[in-house]
Parts: sequence; C-alpha cells; structure tokens
Amino acid sequence: VDFRLNRWRARRVDRRAASIPDAAEKLRFLRQALNPAQPRRTNSRRLAFLVIPASLAAVLAWGSRTIAENGPVGSPIVVPPAAADASATPKVWLVERKEGTDFYSNGLRVEGGWETSTRNRRYSARQRGGGGRISRTEPAGIVFHTTESQLAPFREDHNHALKANGEGLLAYVQQNALYHFVIDRFGRVIRIVSESDYANHSGHSIWADREYVYIDLNHPFFGVSFETQTGAVPTLSIEPQIAAARLLVEMLRAKYGIAGENCVTHAQVSVNPGNMQIGYHTDWATSFPFRELGLRSGYDSVSPAVALFGFSYGQDFVDVLGGKPWPGLVSAEQRLVSEAAAAGKTPGTYRRLLQQRYRTTAAAGNRAPAQ
Ligand SMILES: [Zn+2]
Repeated sequence: VDFRLNRWRARRVDRRAASIPDAAEKLRFLRQALNPAQPRRTNSRRLAFLVIPASLAAVLAWGSRTIAENGPVGSPIVVPPAAADASATPKVWLVERKEGTDFYSNGLRVEGGWETSTRNRRYSARQRGGGGRISRTEPAGIVFHTTESQLAPFREDHNHALKANGEGLLAYVQQNALYHFVIDRFGRVIRIVSESDYANHSGHSIWADREYVYIDLNHPFFGVSFETQTGAVPTLSIEPQIAAARLLVEMLRAKYGIAGENCVTHAQVSVNPGNMQIGYHTDWATSFPFRELGLRSGYDSVSPAVALFGFSYGQDFVDVLGGKPWPGLVSAEQRLVSEAAAAGKTPGTYRRLLQQRYRTTAAAGNRAPAQ
C-alpha cells in the first residue's frame, strides 16, 4: 500500500469515505484512493508518508494485513487499536533533504553520513490467543537503548573528548549495524541503519500489543539508542537528548503508525531463554522519560514475557529496578496466578506450560509463514 496522499486529497478522501455506509465498499474505495493510476513522481519516495487521514489509518492497517495474510487465517481482523492510537499522533512530514540531513515539519533533523544497510525487514507477527502468523515488513514498534559507551564530562573544556567519543561510537555502531538511530550527547539524531532494514539491537526479546506477539525484535522494532550510561542517567543532564528523542518518536509514529504501547525499553523486552528469566539486558530498566516523549509510562504495561510465556526474574533484577518491580511486572504475575487457578493448575505447573509455549513459538523462528 502506498501512502502517497497530500493533505488536500486526504481530507477529500476522508469526507467521501465517511459517506459510504457499507464497510466492504468503503475499503474498496479507500484502496483505490491509495493506489491512484497516476505516474509516480521521481522524488516522491522521500515524501511517501505525507498525510494519512485519521479515518483512513485504521482501515488501511486492516486492508494491508488482510492482504498479507492472503487468506490462511480466515477470520476477519477487528480494526486494530494500534491504528486508532496512531491517529492521535501529530502529523509529521519530511520538509527537505539537504546535504544528507533530513529536516522534518516538527523540527526534527536526522543526520546522514553514517548510514548503512543490512537486509530488508521481514518478520512474523503472531496473533494473540494462539492465532496464526502473518508476514510483515512494516515496523511495529521502537526499542530504546543506552550505548553504555565512554562519556566525558559535559563541559566546554571537554569538547574535544565529547566529539571524539561520539565519533568512535558512531563508527562502532555503524560497523555492527547496532541501531537504526543514535541520539548523541548534543541531541543530534544520526541515522545508522536504513529504516527499511533490520538492526542488531535487541537479541532475544519479547513484546506484544493487544493484537500481536513479537518474538526477537531486531526485525519488527526500530532500535533507538541514547549516547549515555545507565549509571549516569539520573545525574546527567540529558535534556537535549530528550527533546530530540521526542521529535524522532513523533516522526516514526506518524510515518509508520506505531502504537504508543509498542514504544518500550530494552530492559522491558530482553529475555534469557537459557534460564527463562527476563532482564538479560537492563538498559533503561528505570528512569526512561516516557512522559517527556509523549508516551504513557511503559513500566505499567503488563510484561508479555511473564504473562504469556512464564518468564521469571530474581532478586538481582529487582535490585536493578531499585528494589521495586514495575507495576507491569506485578500485574503480569497476578495474571499468571489467576489463569493458573482458572485452569485448575498450580502457578508452577502453569508457568512451565507457558514456558513450553515460548519454546515452541521461538522454535518456529521469524521465518515468514508458508504460503
Ligand atoms: Zn540495549
């Protein structure tokens, strides 16, 4: 599906779509509106996401998923809450690309010059509740990281070290295709891995939204990393970084229709299948500025690794969390216990069943489902 619509056309399409009462006919009209039989302008790729009208976003997602499924799952998919959520994000568009720097309508600047590519993003999303798998190429979320790299004092007399550290970091990140974006000490946003490709940012990891479960997030999610260290976060002034991150999150959510609930930290998603514990990586285990980035507190989200796949955690992880588990961890444990009771099993037995479910699901890998 091509999102090339200008603001004027979007509004017109919106109005006409609203006047069509029949859902199937509405979808047909919207698909047609999205694939106009007019020639593609040569520079239109960069402007590909100008405006997605609010009423359109939900149907769009519905339509593209139905096409991706190509029938095997069969049952109709309800309009996803993710798309409804995305419609609430501000509209952001690419204003111009000049000397490798992309400038966006919300003030975001993304610097080029370090960009590298891996392979096109392609992954399986599993429908919750044991439904089928669908093959997707669109990003579903964002994982936030810290670079844990060397930091110089944030002072003018350390300017040389600040710059040298930053350049060393970017070279390393580029060489290993670690993240899609790095936000440096000065709040500059640097694109490393192309947005169409996967990056090696999350390893073994799990997340789920209301509709889908995602296993191993290198393909399904963008990786955005702050040049900082975990221990330094509470004491370091990172205002320029937060301001830049807010603009970047706005742009990515507007461009790809990413749901707020899918904007998470590495500590929230990282798992260790070896000992079936969560929190193998602990970046942004605490203190992530969700609210400043226009997001609800992700630490309140029910942990999918615990609730769906029976992962656990020990005292060492609770210590990392400052002695107090996230509200989302507590509610995940509660859910596990009450589901076990409803199934007439002990929590221990039920947890092992969920863990077996993870092994089966993970063994299927991220390959696209057979056609
Ligand atoms: Zn990380």
